[in-house]
Amino acid sequence: MNDNFHDKPRMSEELQTLHYLHLRNSLSSEDIQRYDTLQKGYEGEMKLYNLVTSTDTKGYFRFDFLFSSNGTEFQIDSLAIDDQTITLFEVKYYAGDFIHDHNQWYLASNKQEIRNPLIQLQRSEFLFRHLLRDTYPNVTIKAKLVFAHEEFMLYQAPLGIPAIFPNQLNRFLSSISSPKKYISKRVSNIANHLASLHMSKSAYAKKVTYTYETVKKGIPCTSKCRSFLEKYAQTLLHCPTCGITLKNDDALFAIIKEFYFLFPERNITTGAIHEWSNYTLSKRKILHFLNKHLKSVKKGRFTHYYF
Ligand SMILES: [Zn+2]
Repeated sequence: MNDNFHDKPRMSEELQTLHYLHLRNSLSSEDIQRYDTLQKGYEGEMKLYNLVTSTDTKGYFRFDFLFSSNGTEFQIDSLAIDDQTITLFEVKYYAGDFIHDHNQWYLASNKQEIRNPLIQLQRSEFLFRHLLRDTYPNVTIKAKLVFAHEEFMLYQAPLGIPAIFPNQLNRFLSSISSPKKYISKRVSNIANHLASLHMSKSAYAKKVTYTYETVKKGIPCTSKCRSFLEKYAQTLLHCPTCGITLKNDDALFAIIKEFYFLFPERNITTGAIHEWSNYTLSKRKILHFLNKHLKSVKKGRFTHYYF
């Protein structure tokens, strides 16, 4: 696995699938709930990512790991590695008021108990320690929760809780900032070792079910308004709901990538993309785009394209 893979948070395969289907207005209400949860997690990670990449940091930040230790799978949102210490960050994107009471966490609005995020953090820390026990026995491992949503509030937070709250994010940033850009050999060795232990697929990953027939065809608006674009001018499309415009080529590139992701078993042909776009763009334009940007192979009467 390439180490660069962890330089930024990435959507999981499940989230990417749900995201595409959501833009096409093709999700069940259950799937929408799942999408919201995963999307919030991703947004929180992106928030931390944007924060730490806005400054030069002492540590070397890596994102999105899935490990197996002691026969148990666990996920780590982000890690900061320096010569002596690895800090795990579990990012939460909770919004609103929460209460901490006798080691239990509640939503303030309805007193409903939520899963205690500290227990999850301790579990990850324990499993991570176990994972590095033989290769890096002397490295210090720390773990912190990061509450990245600016509207999060925890009442009765115990003193010394290993967490960074929204109003502490700037101080956290200054505590990790450093003019030093050099990454030591030891740090990059640790990062490479962790990248080699990363598993690309979880045994528990949920498969989103959908079929070509049931997914709505068209060119979805990119501003998440869940409308489909219409022809506007010779080279442009526009959204009848929010008004944004998009170049034909950009729209085609996006829907071909999406088609390939959602239906890898289907061939990319002029006809297939014409139908996928719900005939919004002419076959001639699609053919021109495919010839220009993709590789092609002739199969009988048809030309198939691939990236
Ligand atoms: Zn729109």
